[in-house]
Amino acid sequence: MEKQTITIGLPRALLYYRYRTLWRAFFQGLGMETVVSNPTDRDILERGTALAIDEACLSLKIYLGHVAALVGKCDYILVPRVSNFGRQRSMCTRFESTPDLVRNVFRNDRQKFLSYEVDEEMKKQNEEDAFLEMGRALGCSAKAVKKAYKQAKKLELAQHKERAQKYEQLYKREGMKVLIAAHSYVAEDPYMGKTVSDYLKRVGVIPVRADLVDRESALKHSRELSPTCKWEINREILGGIAMHQDDVDGIILLGAFPCGPDAMVNELITRRVKGVPILNLVLDSQTGTAGVETRLESFIDIIRFKEGKL
Ligand code: SF4
Repeated sequence: MEKQTITIGLPRALLYYRYRTLWRAFFQGLGMETVVSNPTDRDILERGTALAIDEACLSLKIYLGHVAALVGKCDYILVPRVSNFGRQRSMCTRFESTPDLVRNVFRNDRQKFLSYEVDEEMKKQNEEDAFLEMGRALGCSAKAVKKAYKQAKKLELAQHKERAQKYEQLYKREGMKVLIAAHSYVAEDPYMGKTVSDYLKRVGVIPVRADLVDRESALKHSRELSPTCKWEINREILGGIAMHQDDVDGIILLGAFPCGPDAMVNELITRRVKGVPILNLVLDSQTGTAGVETRLESFIDIIRFKEGKL
């Protein structure tokens, strides 16, 4: 009998926006198929909101909606546990708990979940070790898994470099530029940050991204704004701001309600970054497009007024 191809479901939310290339290339390298949930829409948001506790952040609610959309459509749904990349390099605690949370929320479904765990600080398990363990659990040989990981990682790094270089060019363009400081899953989700960048483009402003920079340089530069921030992604964003605050006309701090790391770090940014207008925009499931656009319109007017263009 012909062997069936394993299908892995990838929820289009949270770490998908950081690791999509790595995940897809890795599973494809092992001869498996991947299926990605559709872009966030009202239905996904409502399903996720119904499954989450009220206190969950908007990003997590959306994530649960994406997991629900994949249930029954694949052999496994990938729900990684990414705790840290070493000391002072932690991820938000949500990324430590998502596998447990998802298994609990979907405990009555027959759906199988797949996970890997990155914890360099306590368990001394880096990403490569974690992928090796996951690939072996799927029945692949160590040699095949190592090869698939190395190729996928190479592709992921090359793609990130390409995107960062593209953004470097945007800073040199003529015209008003606004730096969006947000987690990638907030910045790119059609129900969250994409409405912001789409609006900016419509009114002739160039949106640039604080997180799309060389990650190693960003981690070093983050110390200029905070030597103690321990959240990896917030540090990359801080570094992106430190590297480019003089190249932009304004900064939008874009967060999902209620986010602990952003609440602390964004407060720090508004205190320490001087000489450039900053808008702090926190999105929740009730935030309508009209309300966001009104605030963006006022912010652009403030920038134009400050630059003597109004
Ligand atoms: S960093 Fe904030 S938005 Fe992201 S998962 Fe954690 S609490 Fe949610």
